[in-house]
Amino acid sequence: MLLTLTTTYGPATDLGYLLHKHPDRCQAFPMSFGQAFVFYPEAGAERCTAALMLDIDPVGLVRGKSTSLEQYVNDRPYVASSFLSVAIAKVFGTALAGQCNQRPELVATAIPLTVSLPVLPCRGGEAVLRQLFEPLGYEVTAQPLPLDDQFPDWGNSPYFAVNLHHTVRLADLLSHLYVLIPVLDDEKHYWVGDEEVEKLLRHGSGWLSHHPARETITRRYLKQQRQLTRLALEQLSEGDRPDPDAEEAPQAQAEEQLEQPISLNQQRMAAVVAALKASGAKRVVDLGCGEGKLLRSLLKDPGFEHIAGVDVSHRALERAQERLERGFFSPTQRSRLNLFQGSLTYRDERLSGFDAATVVEVIEHLDPDRLASLERVLFEFARPQVVIITTPNIEYNSRFAGLPAGTLRHSDHRFEWTRAEFQTWATQVAERFGYRVQFHGIGAEDLAVGTPTQMGVFER
Ligand code: SAH
Repeated sequence: MLLTLTTTYGPATDLGYLLHKHPDRCQAFPMSFGQAFVFYPEAGAERCTAALMLDIDPVGLVRGKSTSLEQYVNDRPYVASSFLSVAIAKVFGTALAGQCNQRPELVATAIPLTVSLPVLPCRGGEAVLRQLFEPLGYEVTAQPLPLDDQFPDWGNSPYFAVNLHHTVRLADLLSHLYVLIPVLDDEKHYWVGDEEVEKLLRHGSGWLSHHPARETITRRYLKQQRQLTRLALEQLSEGDRPDPDAEEAPQAQAEEQLEQPISLNQQRMAAVVAALKASGAKRVVDLGCGEGKLLRSLLKDPGFEHIAGVDVSHRALERAQERLERGFFSPTQRSRLNLFQGSLTYRDERLSGFDAATVVEVIEHLDPDRLASLERVLFEFARPQVVIITTPNIEYNSRFAGLPAGTLRHSDHRFEWTRAEFQTWATQVAERFGYRVQFHGIGAEDLAVGTPTQMGVFER
């Protein structure tokens, strides 16, 4: 299975910097399903081609599972499929995230790129291939491959040799391939769960919400699972509407602008909603709800039967109230929500009786010596089944172009933690109060510094 990527943008060998792979070397990467190799069949100043080759081990894939012959003998080792997306994310993760310290200006530049996929399965035929790539600006050439060269009257297979050409940023091209190759194949190799919604929104950020085929893409990407598809489409259309938060307080605006190139806030809300859905929670309290962004997402989902928003700031609650009124929720929808003023550092009866509590980008606003009170209020007294906490990953700050070194993301942040600091704290808290905790990254992952936001999901 092969993908090649060619540029003629001079000096063409800068493609090596963009991909973080040296043109003179052949490199191998172990994958759970075999091996990935990167090498350059051609590396000149005028024209440079990088190849990503996957060597998929069909026997290893099914080892330990009950098997049929079809599981051993199939097209997977030979065609571009979701394995290729997994390899793109692993091998070209930094390029996919749009990062390159050596050539930062090149990351932001649209350059002529041609992708060749010698064997691409296209369920629905060439028309679907064109529907997916042409609206994004690609010139598409597709050559149907016969079922068998020896027997032309058997007709064509569902596979095509495909070339895609476009002048585009490399990170955008990789995100298009990451999402659209499995969509064309329509046969994902791994279990599709809630975190797939988050991946789709992350890699579809900036193009999927206005793609004319977004419904087909979303449905196929999420393997036709109706509930996940609906959730993803809602989040996508949220991104389309004029932003009711436009007149945000100036500080909050600054933090959002900083994080905006990857629309981190939207990804954060999607990740929290997905984790809540996965937990099966029906009664949810959002602690430090601010102006109610998460509350609005929760209200749209009738699966959340009772929702409460709590904040210490009266002004934030007023704004939450105003925004909800402008959110066109019906009286029945609205009746599921209760807003009240309170603090997460004081024991409060009103915080009991919920299945889940969310604490999104709040802990870093507390003085470190108040954290101990929050721990008891939340995990000892309120004691919901599930607690979801998100907080910035300070290691990622160096990747925000507009943030001077050593500065926190928001002037009211009392601290920001590395992944190790957050995980140490959360693990101790979980142990002390009888919870298990799992960690997830939110936002585009950088191989060196991780994701911009970190999330801990505690369950008991
Ligand atoms: N969760 C929201 C807001 C994050 S900003 C979002 O993700 O958009 C942090 C919020 O925490 C602010 O609204 C602030 O008023 C609130 N907050 C700070 N200290 C608090 C405390 N002790 N108790 C409750 N809320 C608090």
